[in-house]
Amino acid sequence: MSNNALIIIISAPSGTGKTSICRSIFRQFPDIRFSVSYTTRQPRAGEVDGRDYHFITEDMFREKVQKGEFAEWAENYGHLYGTSRRVVEEIRSREEDLILDVEPRGAKALKELYPDGIFVFVLPPDLEELKKRLQKRGAEDDETRKKRFQKAKDEIREVFWYHYIIVNDRLESAVERLRAVYLAEKCRRERQSRVIEGFLKET
Ligand code: ADP
Ligand code: 5GP
Repeated sequence: MSNNALIIIISAPSGTGKTSICRSIFRQFPDIRFSVSYTTRQPRAGEVDGRDYHFITEDMFREKVQKGEFAEWAENYGHLYGTSRRVVEEIRSREEDLILDVEPRGAKALKELYPDGIFVFVLPPDLEELKKRLQKRGAEDDETRKKRFQKAKDEIREVFWYHYIIVNDRLESAVERLRAVYLAEKCRRERQSRVIEGFLKET
């Protein structure tokens, strides 16, 4: 059966602003679902367990890996992050639109599982600005921030296999671009089979 719902995978170097962009999109489109990942890192100020991440211990995470509960998982900066296979499948089976926030290795694994996925890469305007944003976000020591910044350069090399690139210069503009991608993808003919079938039945 064709699935008319969207699965959108968003990657960006840490600190680029994808959480800020996604929050705004979820406010505008409350029906879009978010796949809440599991992580072993500590919550940052303002982060809520079950909304931003499921914060779990490394032992719990490894157990889930053993049981095959993750659609994909990866280590970032010494912490583990994973996408729940069950949650994604449930949302897909209800044909609800879904956004996932995963780094490029996880995104590549999801591309194998969901070839109809829409892959979006968010870039900072430049690396200096990325450094500033990582500092602004705070809550981490200099060493971790440095690691995130180094990794950003490797991640940016992965942009070539994504479908869309959004530069987060002004937040409002970046949100507008993601909104445009979402609406255009919703209108694709192959996702309008129900609408088309409805017309054909009436004739
Ligand atoms: P990510 O989820 O990609 O790690 P965040 O959304 O947490 O990034 O944003 C990192 C920091 O940059 C936050 O302090 C956020 O307020 C800020 N920020 C996000 N987008 C912009 C922007 N377009 N201009 C300036 N600051 C931004
Ligand atoms: P942060 O610690 O800043 O929230 O996230 C660090 C990185 O982990 C980001 O690049 C984010 O996209 C990625 N990430 C978040 N959840 C997942 C996940 O479930 N799987 C993978 N592979 N990466 C994730």
